[in-house]
Amino acid sequence: MKQSDLHDLLIKDFDYYKEGKNAQYIPALSQVDPKQLGIALYNLQANELQTCGIPEKSANVRFAIESISKVPVLLLAINDNGLDGVFSHVDAEPTGFSFNSLLNMQIEQRKYPLNPFVNQGAIVVNSLLKGKNSDERFARILDFMKEIFNDNDITLNEEVYHSESKTGDINRSIAYYMKGNGIWNGDVEDVLDSYFKQCSVNVNAIDLANLGALLANGGVAPWNGKRIVSEESATIVKSLMLTAGLYDESGDFSMRVGVPTKSGVGGGLMSAVPGKYGIGIFSPAIDKPGNSVAGMKLLHDVVQELNIDIFA
Ligand code: GLN
Repeated sequence: MKQSDLHDLLIKDFDYYKEGKNAQYIPALSQVDPKQLGIALYNLQANELQTCGIPEKSANVRFAIESISKVPVLLLAINDNGLDGVFSHVDAEPTGFSFNSLLNMQIEQRKYPLNPFVNQGAIVVNSLLKGKNSDERFARILDFMKEIFNDNDITLNEEVYHSESKTGDINRSIAYYMKGNGIWNGDVEDVLDSYFKQCSVNVNAIDLANLGALLANGGVAPWNGKRIVSEESATIVKSLMLTAGLYDESGDFSMRVGVPTKSGVGGGLMSAVPGKYGIGIFSPAIDKPGNSVAGMKLLHDVVQELNIDIFA
């Protein structure tokens, strides 16, 4: 896309941040400046990366990955255990409840968590990783993220991690509920520690575009031609992103925007448009379900402009 056209779309959508609010329940996230909108587009056909931001360098700004971490951790768990080894512990159904709801499990008396992208499922998936404790699992997650995001500078944001851990009582409830009901049999505090850490890794929009491009490219990193995950895992993850990537807003989003996407409450969006584009967006103000308001508007407009809605 012409740089000036992309910039015009950012100008058009920037102010939508006013309709959202930074995540308040993790205090460190509430402190981030909401007046930021950055995008990175990885065009697979041209093997080219394009960035744009208001302020100008917003695509390079580092922010907490939050729930987008559920994608690389799921891919690593599949690499470790195979597809059946993962999906015998977690289902793949969409949710009409919030990402940290307990109600769905209670109402439906579920045997397994709904899907890997709600917190119940993500906690179970983290526990499936090889590694005997939180430190070992998190060290592996960080190494894998560096590879899959093509970024050696990825680090843990200690402030966000302490903030998450200190205020993570709902996630503790979810984990103890699963354990108490025989849904899961892990070491609650140890697994929550590596779950809080996976959510607190700092990334930027370029990293997210790289992961999107790798998924769009069937699991092969387009920057070096190396296969990082199987084609089947890449396909499955894209399907899950479409049906569950934006929690209880996934249906509406898929109808309006039409590209597999995963969001995080840090304000990130990561999209994979099969065979065509990886897209990373950052804008911290989110709506009630937990998705970046200006980010979704911008994604909608970019998808329309490039004519890449997968259903169109
Ligand atoms: N760390 C956050 C939590 O567990 C991630 C949630 C999200 O991004 N939706 O509540």
